[in-house]
Amino acid sequence: MNDRGDRVTEPDAARHSRAAAPDSVDAATVGSSNSARASAAHATDLVKTYGIGNVAVHALDGVTVEFERGRFTAVMGPSGSGKSTLMHCMAGLDAPTSGRSFVGEDDIARLDDAALTKLRRERIGFIFQSFNLVPTLTAAENITLASDLGGPPVDQTWFTVLVGQLGIADRLSHRPRELSGGEQQRVACARALIGRPELIFADEPTGNLDSAASGEVLEFLRGAVREHGQSIAMVTHDARAAAYADRVVFLADGKLVGELYSPTADAVLERIKRLGATGA
Ligand code: ADP
Repeated sequence: MNDRGDRVTEPDAARHSRAAAPDSVDAATVGSSNSARASAAHATDLVKTYGIGNVAVHALDGVTVEFERGRFTAVMGPSGSGKSTLMHCMAGLDAPTSGRSFVGEDDIARLDDAALTKLRRERIGFIFQSFNLVPTLTAAENITLASDLGGPPVDQTWFTVLVGQLGIADRLSHRPRELSGGEQQRVACARALIGRPELIFADEPTGNLDSAASGEVLEFLRGAVREHGQSIAMVTHDARAAAYADRVVFLADGKLVGELYSPTADAVLERIKRLGATGA
């Protein structure tokens, strides 16, 4: 336990000591410096404004954040706080109004359309709330889609490991409509990991699942980080889901307002309550 009463596991102790983050910290300091690890992705002073003048909405209002390599980071915040916008801007799915966003060392804004497509296809994995599987393809074909579209060849050994760990080896010839929600999301997990991307962005991956299926997906994601060194950034509004992560960063009104290492669901809920109380 640390001085705030949050659980700190032994392997996390070293990085926790470097974090020593105050409960609520200025956006500019959240995960941005003194990092012992290279970052899988980072953003500097990201601003995303929709509309102009009186009707302008500042979806992101100067966000500086880093997602560490080989770590599981959750992004939490109330609805409308900018979580999806942050993910889209950091994954090259949307362009910020200002600020910079990097995957590895590459500044997304400097990539032309072809390079951006290649980045999204080969270096980033996506998991969405609504699974986003291609309905006409089998589970196996969905998993290998990027390769079939001209990406790098599938590593068959890795494919076998993934479908085994995800418990979908006997579902591979089925189409999405023949699979449960949990099975569809596990296929989407395999699709995201098959190319060993530098970073996976998961947007509310358990939002459409019951608690048993959610637990299976989250256990798998945590295992992918711990056993295979995968980097994952997951948007969620569920404290129990966030507790699977190594670190939670909190967004409110388009700003980063805090972070928590080695979170428990109770600690996350407590932090959200406090952020609410301070109006953040
Ligand atoms: P979250 O994912 O935390 O629910 P979003 O990133 O979806 O939040 O949205 C942040 C803010 O930006 C919200 O106020 C939302 O209404 C606004 N917003 C998001 N997308 C658009 C858009 N395309 N046009 C106008 N406003 C948008």
